[in-house]
This record gives sequence, C-alpha cells and structure tokens, in this order.
Amino acid sequence: MKYALLSLLTVLVLFSCTTKTNSQVKEEAKSLDIKVELPEGDIEKIEKSEEEWKQELSEQEFYILRKKGTERPGTGDLLHNKKEGVYVCAACSLPLFSSDTKFRSGTGWPSFYDPIDPRTVAREEDYSHGMKRVEVLCARCDGHLGHVFEDGPRPTGLRYCINAVSLDFVEEKNP
Ligand code: FE
Repeated sequence: MKYALLSLLTVLVLFSCTTKTNSQVKEEAKSLDIKVELPEGDIEKIEKSEEEWKQELSEQEFYILRKKGTERPGTGDLLHNKKEGVYVCAACSLPLFSSDTKFRSGTGWPSFYDPIDPRTVAREEDYSHGMKRVEVLCARCDGHLGHVFEDGPRPTGLRYCINAVSLDFVEEKNP
C-alpha cells in the first residue's frame, strides 16, 4: 500500500513537472524588438573566430549553431509559437523564415515549408550519423539551423526542420 501510494505520488510529481515545463516553454516565446531587413544583392558573409562566437552566444547556441548540435525535440521555445512575424538567425539576425510558412509537423522541432528568401538559407550535403541528409545553414554566418527533408506539405513539399535555439522571433506589429 505504502509503495502504491509512493508510486502514485511520483507519477503525480512527474506529471506536474511536465505540465509546468510545457507552459513555461510557451510563455518563453518572446519576440525581439529589431528591424527585419533583407539585404539587397549578394549576402555578405560574417566571419568570426570560434572564440568570438563563444563570447557572443550562449552555451546552447554555440553548441547548435557552431558545432552542428541538435536540441532535444519538444523543448524549443518557439515550437508552439503561433504569432505572426519573422524568424531570424539567433547569431546574426538575418531573416530566415516567415510565420506564414510555419506548420505543425509533429516532430518536436519548429518546421517551415519555405525560407523567406532563397538567398538566406544555404544547403549542404550532410553524411554524419550514417545518414544522407541536407543540412541548412544561415547564408550569412554559416550557423547550423537544421535539415531539410522532402516530406513537407504543399506547395513546396519541403520540411525545413529547424532548431528553435538557432532562431529568434520578431513579431509583426500592426500599426
Ligand atoms: Fe546567421
């Protein structure tokens, strides 16, 4: 009886922790107050040393953007963000995706079916972890964003599977 009560208590505690985490995640999807600007013409590269990036980025941002890491699915602050606006690179603020192309993929990572401008998202073949995938990177700072797969919705049929850590959000403000 004692053990049954103890297990029930453990389940309840675990459940409340999970619920709290989910609601916290939703609340944390705050927007930045910066001007979204798409550069004209060719995109000029930003090159910084590993040390400089380490100083500018958080530990998690550095691991994902510079070391091609992946956040745990379901943990991203922007995963459930439904506000209208623009998703920019967390390292250099280059506009990458619009909320218009965000969709619910059920994968646990923010997903989009098209970049805001084909110039801002670079692609590279990735053969790591015994898989053949196409990596997507910020075309300005070469920050790792995620991967693109060919099982997305119409009209492109593409699924840009992006780490929320690699993105910042700028909300569209209606005057
Ligand atoms: Fe960038």
